Amino acid sequence: QFLLLWLFFCLILITGSLLLQRWFALAWQLHSENKLLISRLETLAHQDALTGAANRRVLEDYLALMVTQQKPLAAIMLDVDYFKRFNDHYGHQAGDDCLRQIANVLNFSVRTPEDLVARYGGEEFVLLLPAATIAQAIAVTQRIQVKLAAAAIPHAASEVSSFVTISMGVSISTGHTSAKALIAAADAALYRAKKAGRNGYSV
Ligand code: GH3
Ligand code: MG
Ligand code: MG
Repeated sequence: QFLLLWLFFCLILITGSLLLQRWFALAWQLHSENKLLISRLETLAHQDALTGAANRRVLEDYLALMVTQQKPLAAIMLDVDYFKRFNDHYGHQAGDDCLRQIANVLNFSVRTPEDLVARYGGEEFVLLLPAATIAQAIAVTQRIQVKLAAAAIPHAASEVSSFVTISMGVSISTGHTSAKALIAAADAALYRAKKAGRNGYSV
């Protein structure tokens, strides 16, 4: 009787431990899947789906942080020249590819991972360069132009070149400028660069 009872308890113990092990493995698997899902959602919430650049929300948060901390920074606003004509000539799909290539050029033109490349909307991007001087910001605009020229994306419908070009506006904050004023200054500079004939920058 005692032996039977002992065997019975052993059986219960072994089955119980096996069940627990299975539950634990299942819970661990679910936990890993959830972690992956959360990281994918985070990427989606922060990235522009077309170009992979940071999205407008990230730009605004980053800018707000810099302004709150009174950190000096430079902003570059850039806009593709004659992009409507590009779409009309080569099609919307080619236009999307062009924006992806431009985002790539921007990522390879910034200085450090702290420099933010964000899609502002449509065919406009904004770069935020923490602690950059005017000279450093201008060096970035020149690097962008050199790399974009090297990418040589044909643009038969442009009035300024046979390849895709961009215009840029640079603004600088010493740490005492509002986010709105910094972006407005970059926008105004961009407008001047367009007026001056495109394919260039203004500060
Ligand atoms: P400008 O040199 O003065 O900047 O002229 P533009 O033609 O580039 O400017 P405009 O604002 O007239 O046209 C912008 C075009 O950008 C119109 C729109 O179809 C195109 N565009 C905006 N977002 C996207 C996008 O996500 N994909 C594609 N393919 N085109 C886009
Ligand atoms: Mg535009
Ligand atoms: Mg444009």
